[in-house]
Amino acid sequence: FPRNGRPFGGCPSAIGNLELDPLPLMHDIQCLGVYTSGGDAPGMNACLRATVRTALANDLEVVGIRRGYEGMIDGDFVEMDRRSVSNIVQTGGTILKSARSTDFLTEEGRTRAADNLERYDVDGLIAIGGDGTFRGASKLNDEHGIPVVGCPGTIDNDLFGTDTTIGYDTALNTAIENIDRIRDTADAHNRLFLIEVMGRDAGFIALNCGIGGGAELILIPETITEMDMIKERIFSLMSAQRRSTIVVVAEGDELGGARGIEQALREDPTFEDIDLRSTILGHIQRGGAPTAGDRVLASRLGVAAVEALLDGHTDVMVGFVNGETKLTPLRNVYSRKKSIDYDLLKLTQILS
Ligand code: ATP
Repeated sequence: FPRNGRPFGGCPSAIGNLELDPLPLMHDIQCLGVYTSGGDAPGMNACLRATVRTALANDLEVVGIRRGYEGMIDGDFVEMDRRSVSNIVQTGGTILKSARSTDFLTEEGRTRAADNLERYDVDGLIAIGGDGTFRGASKLNDEHGIPVVGCPGTIDNDLFGTDTTIGYDTALNTAIENIDRIRDTADAHNRLFLIEVMGRDAGFIALNCGIGGGAELILIPETITEMDMIKERIFSLMSAQRRSTIVVVAEGDELGGARGIEQALREDPTFEDIDLRSTILGHIQRGGAPTAGDRVLASRLGVAAVEALLDGHTDVMVGFVNGETKLTPLRNVYSRKKSIDYDLLKLTQILS
């Protein structure tokens, strides 16, 4: 609703936060914009809450940008106060919604987004999302001089510069809970189950839920998976055990995920007598209440992100490394690959 030529008369007035000591204001940022972008992840709301309340505690005004870069281009902005982030720390999804925006990939789209930020007096940003979100944030910083700090929000845990990302712990626990359920029914019929988990082209969820769920075999994109070798291994496991076998497959595995492997096994007469099923866990891994670990991580990173911005940092992500919050330049976050823990991989060979 236009007032004084501005969408809602500028940013809302800050309400002091009595729970937090005010932080020293070392940056000339007056109004903070915050958005969630890319794939949603449990804990994004906890991060929003921490971001908004830390900004308010520092007498900043806060604007929420709905639907990530899509909303930034459309001017879909909403004023945020303490109450707007009440009762969300425990919820999955994101109250600001998320989206993927093709318009933002163009210079014209980014200019429209920057114009809207200026129109609403937003002079600093907190971006909650994955590597694509940070590529976009870096461009806003470089092309339009808008200070931005990123918070790692993705279930995939594939971001360099942080040991763990917001949403990963929840997704991992959801995957394990479902593997446990499948184990019960697999055991009852001595079945072979191929269970596909998320993670895009990274195997963090697969490796860790495979270990936690007692999988006999774990297939991840970081290792070379040859069909003949997989067939041999599965066949010897099924013959030796005469009970259920669980194979966890990362969605990014080069053999085409659980369905690809299932098809290859069905076409092979050696597997004729083996009772085989495949399950794709899919989006259940994204939903649900965040775990305690994700809530605390998201809260810490949200606070640290606003503090970093006020300290004058920009074009960085705040991550959690060896038990401490650490800043990493965004260009390193999206250009470097985080390695899986190869010791864990060795462990699977001993345990399965
Ligand atoms: P997730 O890892 O959960 O998928 P993400 O942040 O990587 O999250 P993306 O869809 O890759 O999700 O990116 C989110 C949005 O960021 C894109 O829809 C696009 O608008 C913007 N974006 C991605 N890459 C770029 C880029 N190179 N330049 C500008 N904007 C980009």
